[in-house]
Amino acid sequence: MGQWSSSFLRSRLARRTFMLFVVSALVPILIFSSLATQQVDSLFYAQQRKELQRSAKNFGLLLYERISLLRKDAENRRRQLESQVSIGDFRLQDEQQPLFARVELISLSDGLRLQQLERQFPVDFVLPAAGSGEPGGLWVDVDRQPWLVSRVQHRANGYLLLLQPAHDFLWDGLSDYDLGKQFSIYNEQRQLLFQSEAEFDPELDDVDQAWPRSRWNLLLSFFTDEPVWEVEVVGPAAASLLSLTEFQQLFRLITLLAVLLGIFVSLITIRRNLQPIEALSQGIKRINDNQFGELVEIKSGDEFELLGNTFNSMSVKLGRHMEALRSLTNIDQLILNRLVIEDIVQLVLSEGRQLLEADAIHFFVAGDERLTFTVFSSRRQPVELTISDFVLASLHHPGRINSVEELRLPPELSRLVTDNAFLYSANLLKEGAVSAVLMAEYQQAPSEDLLALADSFVDHIAVALSHADWQKRLFHQANYDALTGLPNRYLFADHLTVAIEQSLKSQQKLALFFVDVDEFKSINDAFGHAAGDQLLRQIAGRLAGLGGQGRVYRVGGDEFVLLYSCTGVERQQVVIETGEVAECLRAEVMRPIQYEGKQLASSVSIGIAIYPDDSFFAEKLLKFADQAMYQAKALGRNRYQYYSEIYRSSATEHGQVVADLRQALAGDEFILLYQPKVDLLTGRMKGCEALIRWLHPKRGIISPTEFIPLVEAHGLMEDLGRWVIRTAAKQKAEWRAEGVAMGRIAINISIHQIRNVSFYKDVLAYFGEFDCRGDDFEFEVIETSYVDDFHSFKDQLIELQKLGVIFSIDDYGTGYSSLSRLLNLPIDTIKIDKSFVDNIATDPVSSAIVESTINLAKAMGLSVVAEGVETPEQLARLLQYKCDAVQGFLFSRPVSAAALASLVDTHFMDAAYSI
Ligand code: C2E
Ligand code: CA
Ligand code: CA
Repeated sequence: MGQWSSSFLRSRLARRTFMLFVVSALVPILIFSSLATQQVDSLFYAQQRKELQRSAKNFGLLLYERISLLRKDAENRRRQLESQVSIGDFRLQDEQQPLFARVELISLSDGLRLQQLERQFPVDFVLPAAGSGEPGGLWVDVDRQPWLVSRVQHRANGYLLLLQPAHDFLWDGLSDYDLGKQFSIYNEQRQLLFQSEAEFDPELDDVDQAWPRSRWNLLLSFFTDEPVWEVEVVGPAAASLLSLTEFQQLFRLITLLAVLLGIFVSLITIRRNLQPIEALSQGIKRINDNQFGELVEIKSGDEFELLGNTFNSMSVKLGRHMEALRSLTNIDQLILNRLVIEDIVQLVLSEGRQLLEADAIHFFVAGDERLTFTVFSSRRQPVELTISDFVLASLHHPGRINSVEELRLPPELSRLVTDNAFLYSANLLKEGAVSAVLMAEYQQAPSEDLLALADSFVDHIAVALSHADWQKRLFHQANYDALTGLPNRYLFADHLTVAIEQSLKSQQKLALFFVDVDEFKSINDAFGHAAGDQLLRQIAGRLAGLGGQGRVYRVGGDEFVLLYSCTGVERQQVVIETGEVAECLRAEVMRPIQYEGKQLASSVSIGIAIYPDDSFFAEKLLKFADQAMYQAKALGRNRYQYYSEIYRSSATEHGQVVADLRQALAGDEFILLYQPKVDLLTGRMKGCEALIRWLHPKRGIISPTEFIPLVEAHGLMEDLGRWVIRTAAKQKAEWRAEGVAMGRIAINISIHQIRNVSFYKDVLAYFGEFDCRGDDFEFEVIETSYVDDFHSFKDQLIELQKLGVIFSIDDYGTGYSSLSRLLNLPIDTIKIDKSFVDNIATDPVSSAIVESTINLAKAMGLSVVAEGVETPEQLARLLQYKCDAVQGFLFSRPVSAAALASLVDTHFMDAAYSI
């Protein structure tokens, strides 16, 4: 109430309504009531006066009647007197009830009497004419007593008969009819002759108002100058006025009540009207403060409630529009900033869902390939989809809502949305193609203006998308070289910084290859700029194709940089790796380039700088690589050069090794040794493994673990591999000729060999050359490479298997393949790696692994060979686990072919136990 009254006071409307009420209701009531009171008063007084007048008249007439009676009696007496013999016989008070109090007979001739009388009668008393026969007139003496006067003629003497009416007879009972009123009689001289008793004192009050009076003239027509008496009556104030006062009081009370009722009703009305207005104005204030959520609550059941509801829906709409405006502004702002597709996706999923009040948003963004889309959904992980043109067209329904059933979505799309949902979907176009599709999902069909909002949202997003695309193009222009399409020096600078940071974390080494085309200027001069451009484009393409773990940038006219992160960390490894890369780059460029039917030959000089060995700083690395490139040019072009001395010498050393290897291959510096494989069932040799050795002219025997990686790194493995197979086949033929019953010769096959498409052909050729068969050999392939690369070369292996060659997995256990993964590959044997065998007698884990591996392999139909068995304890375990065969120093080191032949009949078990 307090709040309400304060708001009442504040409200001008309330005050105005109240004033209006006062003017239109209170004032008339008051005017009316006062007029009515006045009217009633005057009516009342008029009534009263009339009544008084009537009383006065009655009183007067009654008096007149009595006077007439007196006059008649007086006339009788006069006649008696005149007829009497002697005047002296005239008797005064003779009646029993005397009408007259005093009787005087005055002789007109007897002056004394008259004189005596004159003292009693006023001087202007006119004697009535004697003998006129008229009854006497009325005369009032000094005591204000009326007298009846008659002239008596007795004989010759004239007399005046004066009769004073008895007071009681004249006045008594006159006012009995109108008790409570006061009657007064005045003569013409306004002398009071009589006044009746009154129960009130008319003099004390305001006579005119409270005590109304009335007068009546009583004509006593005896003489020509008629005396006129006046009857005056004063009202019965108490009795009559009381009812008037009562009426007035009641009237005032009713007026007051009416006024109060009026005020009450007006307040109620004002309150009823003020409250909704107050609520509405509060609501408007909230809207002004941008609070759209809170609704106005008016339950008046009239137009105000209608107004409130309209206001609420307007407020909701306005809120939505404001929110939309905010979101759209947000989008526009993002467009102005650097916007990338990821931001837009984020925006659509979060803002869009809120803005469109959707249960879920699905946003399809077109990929690089036609009709491929990545679907980002507020509900699940992004998925890649291919969507046909037909389906795309069917998704375009701006400004409309469709049920999922209506749309008949293909299964890959219908999986995204819930059944029975409603969908808004619109395609965003760019240059005529669908660049994205926005799909908003609803459980209940949304309102029309939401759909309109969705349309404008889609428009904004479309602009944002094309803008982002434009940004991308700008970025590309700024960061990519127009001629070759390669990233330019700016992007290179960026990437180098990032790569350095990454290397710092991963401890990897980073190599910078600065590649400069030799004699580019002269090519340009000789063949023209178009040819130069063509050459650069071709070189760029070839370099980029070689990137592998690196990326190629065009940093100047004919200058390229390859940024490459090394796999190895040791300097030797880095040298081999980077040397190989540089060699590849060089070789690629050397291939002739076709230009308008001519062949252009070119070469490059390459400078290499290594992070962090050469420098920690990006600019220095580039500078150093550049310097190294100049040195390569100075050394005669078409070569590569390391910046740092230490790498240079390593490379020289490495180069030496490579040169030596080539020499070794050509000069027959390799030999094969053979290590027996002992069958644990028989205790005899079941075959052997060929193991290569390099008989270096200066360094003596070099282990394959040392030179095989070099051979592989320098692409010499295929040559060497062929040499091994051919040598083994040749040996087999020799043993056959010598009558040595040697089992299969196991040959280690590098993955480089198998990848070569001519592998099968080569093998077949050597078999043919030495008249060997498939079952003379076993090929050992390292687990990891075999499993990973199998599919690319399986045809050759299956062909070989058909010939009778068996395949074994070498170093089993060092990779990560489970046995079951090997199940579908052409494999006959697994060779358990030496690292497991080493600990088999001491470490329970190793022994458990070996035991279960053997069991599992056997269950799969594979035979098992254990490698590197050195002790009888290890052998005992392997026997216990029923391993098929073993290989190791316990029985024999790798030995020459001749030495091996002598072991053919050895019973190794006896020998082993005898050790
Ligand atoms: P691998 O195929 O696992 O060969 C077994 C290696 O273990 C051989 O070393 C062998 O001498 C050694 N070894 C055998 N028994 C024992 C033992 O009881 N104790 C110890 N400590 N070692 C034992 P090697 O001959 O030095 O060969 C090393 C690796 O070089 C081979 O491992 C194989 O991967 C590779 N390799 C050898 N010859 C060739 C070849 O002709 N071609 C190819 N591609 N690789 C070969
Ligand atoms: Ca082997
Ligand atoms: Ca092995």
